[in-house]
Amino acid sequence: METDGPSVLLFFIDGLGIGTRGPHNPFDGLEDADPLAIFQDEPAIVPFDGVVVSTDARLGVEGRPQSASGQTTILTGVNAAAALGSHKQGFPNRALLEILREHSIFLQLQNRGIHSTTFANTYTSRFFERRPRWISATTAAVEAAGLRFNLVDDLRAGRAVYHDFTNAALIERGEVVAPRSPDEAGDVLAGIVARHRFTLYEYFITDHVGHAQDREAAQRVLPMLARYIRRVLEKVDLTSSAVIVTSDHGNIEDLSARNHTLNPVATTIWGREREKIASRIRSLADITPAIVEHLTAN
Ligand SMILES: [Zn+2]
Repeated sequence: METDGPSVLLFFIDGLGIGTRGPHNPFDGLEDADPLAIFQDEPAIVPFDGVVVSTDARLGVEGRPQSASGQTTILTGVNAAAALGSHKQGFPNRALLEILREHSIFLQLQNRGIHSTTFANTYTSRFFERRPRWISATTAAVEAAGLRFNLVDDLRAGRAVYHDFTNAALIERGEVVAPRSPDEAGDVLAGIVARHRFTLYEYFITDHVGHAQDREAAQRVLPMLARYIRRVLEKVDLTSSAVIVTSDHGNIEDLSARNHTLNPVATTIWGREREKIASRIRSLADITPAIVEHLTAN
């Protein structure tokens, strides 16, 4: 019933812009980084017939784009930086939380009769026992629609992924789970996509590596992330699903500075109606409207 019709995976990567070539850019010369290796002023060669849209992350607001305002914008379609008058880093403040509570993509879909939506990421029980003072934009977007969060048991049962999809960070935190290869994690995420109309996944190690200016970590992490995405693309039915990879701002593509960059980000779209979805996207504020329209027009 509700799983009929098109579906969308929004695969969010924190801190990944379209950079220039040079020694500052860990993608330059890196092998096996498709579809993430995209350079300014070069045609992007994207496997699985993906379409790349250079996407404005600056949102018409002075200063460097930041995570809380960028993610709120991606997850609501509201230009949160413009609403605040500035880019907000880290976690959403009260004003951003209000935008998320009112305009979360999950809520917009629910209000249009699409209830089969999920955040694929896993939360540890610690989150609920000692709720952190600051929560991410994604957490707030999920809560706005009253959706349940995946727990480690869901991950063990093959129904969820951890933000560090290899599970290494989860194992480090003392959870008893098996490590996953990028292919194994990709199989799990593709399975989640097959059971829902809309799936969100969030990855943010890229932003940490960018701030740390850690070239070695970048060269280790980026090919694994790329492999994970390629596996998802192999396994998802691209005749009925669209896969959208995007980011909130640049960072890891320029390791010469520890700040976020002013670069545009790549929104790459595969599968059903990819050209039509791409034609709607200019900035981060266009992603939620494009997804909502795609899922409700069909
Ligand atoms: Zn950052």
